[in-house]
Amino acid sequence: VFGSLEIGSLFGVRVRVHLLLLAMGGLFLLDPGLGGLLGFGVLCLAVFLHELGHALTARRLGLEVVDITLGPLGGMTRMSVMPESSRIEAWVASAGPLTNLALAALCAVAALTLPVAAWPPWATLALAQGLTFNLVLGLFNLVPAFPTDGGRLLRAWLARRRDWLRATEIAVRVGAWCALLAASAGFALVFSGTALAPQGLALVLVAAFVWWTGKQELAQVRLRHGVASPFEVLAAVLRGPLGSAPPAPAAREAEAGAGLSRDAIEDLERHRGSLSSWRSRREPDGE
Ligand SMILES: [Zn+2]
Repeated sequence: VFGSLEIGSLFGVRVRVHLLLLAMGGLFLLDPGLGGLLGFGVLCLAVFLHELGHALTARRLGLEVVDITLGPLGGMTRMSVMPESSRIEAWVASAGPLTNLALAALCAVAALTLPVAAWPPWATLALAQGLTFNLVLGLFNLVPAFPTDGGRLLRAWLARRRDWLRATEIAVRVGAWCALLAASAGFALVFSGTALAPQGLALVLVAAFVWWTGKQELAQVRLRHGVASPFEVLAAVLRGPLGSAPPAPAAREAEAGAGLSRDAIEDLERHRGSLSSWRSRREPDGE
């Protein structure tokens, strides 16, 4: 992903952090209070575990996980190929929010059963933040505003009886309506003259992001199905290396269980540089 830095790998999944997120962390370091930095750390951890839930579930289903990127607007897990399968999409999409809801439940149980009153203040604060952030992340991602996880679950459900393209079109339209609602609420807050104006602006930005990325993903599905409008084809060409790696048409042959197809590797290399060292590490598996 453009502007991100690889910081290491966990369970064989490469982890990258966007420079903007590092800058945000740096700002919290300047803050003399501990609460902000602690909250930032707990939130990043909750987002990371959410993505790890997606990544490990995808790998269990036989998909190749490219990497996890933590950015200012949340996390992203990239798979080399995402098959057009309701079953696989439902498992992979639900794993993230379920991880957060399970962690929130764990924090709640800890708060009720452990002697938290005797803990140092930062530890009780971290527990409270862990409970709140995981609950909010889990629920927020279940909103059916495609391309959120909830939106993907909706598409998976729709695609049981429909063509994948048609299911995507409906899910993206529902997502656009959710984005419109959120943006209206955001604008109402911005012009309310209350202290909630910054939150309103953030809501408008998130809504715009959801609307835009939903449209982009629909365009990718339309390209893959050969029904893209000339404008969508042009946009995909112009987006080039800065956009997210679109699945190569031939990559569809690699259904669940298969690794990277030749085309997928070539496509990824165009965006991210040579993957040869990574490939040779995989060789002994006998794949
Ligand atoms: Zn997710």
